[in-house]
Amino acid sequence: MFTETTLVINCGSSSLKFSLICPQTGETLLNGLAECLSSNDATLSYTFENNKQSQPLLAPFNHQVAINALVAILKQHHLVDKITAIGHRIVHGGEKYGQPTIITEAVKTEIDKLAQLAPLHNPANLIGIQACEQAFKHLPQVAVFDTAFHQTMPAKAYIYGLPYKLYQEHGIRRYGFHGTSHYFVAKQAASLINKPIDECNFISAHLGNGCSITAIKNGKSVETSLGLTPLEGVMMGTRSGDIDPSIVFHLVDQLGYSAEQVNQMLNKESGLLGVSQLSNDCRALERAMVEDNHPGAKLALDIFCYRIAKTIASFTASLTKLDAIIFTGGIGENSAFVREQVLSQLSLLGMKVDADKNLAARFGQSGKITTTNSRAAWVIPTNEEWVIAEQTQQKLIQE
Ligand code: ADP
Repeated sequence: MFTETTLVINCGSSSLKFSLICPQTGETLLNGLAECLSSNDATLSYTFENNKQSQPLLAPFNHQVAINALVAILKQHHLVDKITAIGHRIVHGGEKYGQPTIITEAVKTEIDKLAQLAPLHNPANLIGIQACEQAFKHLPQVAVFDTAFHQTMPAKAYIYGLPYKLYQEHGIRRYGFHGTSHYFVAKQAASLINKPIDECNFISAHLGNGCSITAIKNGKSVETSLGLTPLEGVMMGTRSGDIDPSIVFHLVDQLGYSAEQVNQMLNKESGLLGVSQLSNDCRALERAMVEDNHPGAKLALDIFCYRIAKTIASFTASLTKLDAIIFTGGIGENSAFVREQVLSQLSLLGMKVDADKNLAARFGQSGKITTTNSRAAWVIPTNEEWVIAEQTQQKLIQE
């Protein structure tokens, strides 16, 4: 049944997600996660044929040990010979990488250089590449970049209102992230509305712990809310999103914060968590608002939904037509409340939520959630791993 599969690797600083996927169908043969890789709580769990298993990892607690454990699991289930390639999710590809790229020594050097722009992500991605090179010497490895889909943005969308030489000399510009997710849901939506992707115009909202909104014109990204780093744009689980940049100077100069403390605050202590003073988890906040009438939870969710609606409305400036708004990511796929709140603030765009359809749309299914006389909004579950598998295979066929 599975003639060939791609092993997709998504390596974080202390975690490693893996999926063995059929690039043609998106069917997943085995998937799992190794986590807490820098501590003695390191564990690896995986699902194969609907069975979930978990095992502790042995010292030294690192990515290589996790990859070695994965190889043993793949051997145990007779899967090693089915793997034809490895696809790596790489967070930052800068301006150089607008396409999937076969990993060579030169490409690794570039990914390392780009760590300046993604210090938390690119070094971890490189560790994953190196560990896979050791374990799967015979297999080609392909990098699929999270920034690539947004490389079609025009300069007016990606240049900041800063001295131009910061862009020329240091690459300071908007890059955008979640590219594989926005690309995937746009492609799915095109097929659902039965139109060629290069004639489709969407605004997609990827709402998870990290959130981004993207305007897609004739199938291509023309504007996105995340910027040089994944801190800009709408408010997120623990990230502030847009603020007045002078707040940083006020915190440092007047209130005695260090740059490091401000960085920590904006990335880890703000957003839904910071405002609610309760949780970064949308589900927990919805519960607290409904069951306990928690004012912080209500305010956090109000701000969250308003900012998403405001961003979607502003992104219509990049488009001349709008076929649909798309919701995806853990919140976008599952929270009927957030979708309703966002769309009800977009009535000037002709959005009318169908309450029943909106409540029914969740748990991994695609569905339209607007009334027949409304502009369309869809819920579409994302599948970044499938995109990585598919693009890895396509790249190898082209070579
Ligand atoms: P990540 O960005 O880490 O991949 P996810 O896409 O998994 O995150 O999204 C996580 C978010 O999705 C959390 O805020 C979680 O509360 C939210 N979420 C998941 N299921 C639901 C649900 N049924 N209702 C509301 N929010 C949900």
